[in-house]
Amino acid sequence: MRGTEPYLVVDGLMKHYGDGEARVQVLDGITTKIMRGEVCVMLGPSGSGKSTFLNLIGGLEDADGGHVSVGGCELTALGARELGEYRRRELGFVFQFYNLVPDLTIRENIEVTAHLSDSPLPLEDLLRSLGLWEHRDKFPRQVSGGQQQRCAIGRALVKNPGLILCDEPTGALDYKTSKEVLELMERVNREYGCTVVMVTHNAAIAGMADRVLRLRDGRLVEDQVNEAPLSAAELDW
Ligand code: ADP
Ligand code: MG
Repeated sequence: MRGTEPYLVVDGLMKHYGDGEARVQVLDGITTKIMRGEVCVMLGPSGSGKSTFLNLIGGLEDADGGHVSVGGCELTALGARELGEYRRRELGFVFQFYNLVPDLTIRENIEVTAHLSDSPLPLEDLLRSLGLWEHRDKFPRQVSGGQQQRCAIGRALVKNPGLILCDEPTGALDYKTSKEVLELMERVNREYGCTVVMVTHNAAIAGMADRVLRLRDGRLVEDQVNEAPLSAAELDW
C-alpha cells in the first residue's frame, strides 16, 4: 500500500563496533527512501547488519554518522527525551522471540502499551482481529508460538504507530504459522496504514514487499521497488 510521500529517509548511515583489530564496520553508508505505507523487506545473510539497521531506525542505538528521519522528524538530532517520545508514539517493534511478559495475560501484554498513545486502537476490536479474543485471559506459555507472535504484533500495534519494525518475525515459527503471521502483517499494513520494515533471511518473503532492500557486509546491494507484490497467502517456500 505504497504512498508517494517519503516517510523513512536514511542517508549515509554508519555504525561500527569495537576498536583496533576488533573493529567491525557493521553499516557502511546506508542510503534509502521508504514511502509512507510501504511494506519494506530487508534481506541479508546472518551478520550483515540487519538488526543493527533496525535498532538505529528504532532509536535503540546511536549511529556513528549519517541521518535518519521519520515522517519529517530528524532522529539523529533528537535528545534522549524526544527520542523516547518518538519510540513511544511513532514506533512498534516486533521481535523473533516475541518478548512477552510471562506474568501478564495476552490481553495485559497488549494493554500495557495502549496508554502510550493519545488514540489507542479499541482493545476488543484488536483482540478479535488478531484472533486472540478467546485467549485473552491466558498467559503466554498457555498459547502457541504463532499466538504469542500475534500478541506481540498487537502490542506493537495498539498505540497506532506510524512505523512497525519487525526483526525476523517468523524466524521461530513453522511454515503454516509464518504464513498466518505474514498475512496478519499484510492486513495490519492495509487496515491501519502503518509503514512496515521487516527483516528476514527468508528470501521468499520478499515476494510480498513493496520494496526489497538487500544488505551485504553493511552495504545495500539492492534497493528495488516491486510494482506487483504477491499477497502473503501466495508466498511459498
Ligand atoms: P544480522 O541481524 O544481519 O544478523 P547484526 O546487525 O546483528 O546482523 O550484526 C552485524 C555485525 O555486528 C555482526 O558481525 C555482529 O557480530 C556485530 N555486532 C552486533 N551487535 C554487536 C554489539 N553490540 N557489539 C559488538 N558487535 C556487534
Ligand atoms: Mg539479526
